[in-house]
Amino acid sequence: MARFPEAEQRLFQKVYVCKKCKTVNKPKSRRKPLKCRKCGSKDLRLKRKKKQ
Ligand SMILES: [Zn+2]
Repeated sequence: MARFPEAEQRLFQKVYVCKKCKTVNKPKSRRKPLKCRKCGSKDLRLKRKKKQ
């Protein structure tokens, strides 16, 4: 009961950061956002990268 992978995915894996303007994009659905909501760039990365 220590770790919840699904919860971690919800917190970190679904959050994308624009590489250009650093805007955080949180998709409402499970789909990956196609572009930044602010500048419209398609260069998005996951906010938290796992080192494991
Ligand atoms: Zn952007």
